[in-house]
Amino acid sequence: MIYLDNGATSFPKPPEVTQAMVEAARTCANPGRGGHPAAMAAAETVFHCRERAAKRFDCKPEQVVFTLNCTQGLNMAIRTLVRPGARVVITGFEHNAVVRPLYALNARISVAGRRLFDPADTLLQWERALRRGVDAAVFTHVSNVFGYILPAEEMAALCRRYHVPFVVDAAQSAGTLPVSLEKWGADFIAMPGHKGLLGPQGTGVLLCNRLPEPICYGGTGSESRLRGMPDFLPDRGEAGTVNVPGIAGLSAGLLVLEREGISTIYRREAQEARRCAAALENLGLRVFWGREQGGTVSFLPGADCEECAAALAGQGIAVRAGLHCAPLAHESAGTLETGTVRLSFGRDADPQQTAALLRGMREFLRGRS
Ligand code: PLP
Repeated sequence: MIYLDNGATSFPKPPEVTQAMVEAARTCANPGRGGHPAAMAAAETVFHCRERAAKRFDCKPEQVVFTLNCTQGLNMAIRTLVRPGARVVITGFEHNAVVRPLYALNARISVAGRRLFDPADTLLQWERALRRGVDAAVFTHVSNVFGYILPAEEMAALCRRYHVPFVVDAAQSAGTLPVSLEKWGADFIAMPGHKGLLGPQGTGVLLCNRLPEPICYGGTGSESRLRGMPDFLPDRGEAGTVNVPGIAGLSAGLLVLEREGISTIYRREAQEARRCAAALENLGLRVFWGREQGGTVSFLPGADCEECAAALAGQGIAVRAGLHCAPLAHESAGTLETGTVRLSFGRDADPQQTAALLRGMREFLRGRS
């Protein structure tokens, strides 16, 4: 299979990741719930992953809260910063994992920056919205639909300048672009463990610069006499047993990134995405691409997107069609009615994948003419 759906989850996982999961299932009991060797092995496994994540994202190990996915982290962060009815600014490229929690809180949402691949405009609109006055800000680092890399560092600096607490959704950037809790000064940064960090599904990380408001209550293996959740990190955000085999796999994924270097992976993905975008344009298709672009590209196939994705799947090429859980991004780009076909390259990005996709697209287009 030619897998071009890394925006959904990275696949296949590196063998080190699977091995680490199996090893953890074999050797680890419940971390922080006992002093016997199997519980200690679990605690060590989890702590090593915390340390690795802390090193990668410039924070202390206790600021790393393990979650089930990026969505859970975003919900916790948003619940902490946003009171019901509060004024919140977001960009025009947010995923439903940001938008739905805000709707659930009846937040008064303003959308700033809807132009694709135009960081100057994004910054202008972002500053305007912050200047008008908001209670919190949430923004994605990279659009999951179009691969647009937003100017996250400058957006973070603006939030700090206007004293607006903020959350960054690093779902599509963690593992390929620099993400720093210390440098950005974000209140929270949420990310999945299962995309660019190469861990398994069911893992995620919330980096915390302040105590999160729990969205789940229960045992933590600490302060058991308290009626409420402990008021320290990471325990406050981690009720119940964490996903130890998953975290072991995530830890192995982080090690692969250390070894290969995220800038090398980024260059490979982004270069292939550009090559592919240019070639699709040469087929006469409408392709959304620009200078500030990562390893994801969307295009319109001149036919129904789902039909195109199904035809490609029939030829062994995995892509994703539709709205990609981000109707707002499609509204911004004018593709809400059609959706797009999305290609998202991974760390194995390679010209042969583009060549296979082009063969598949030619075949699809021939079949329709
Ligand atoms: N935010 C963005 C930009 C995403 O692309 C995704 C998933 O595709 C999410 C949030 C949600 O991630 P998860 O599925 O890990 O909850």
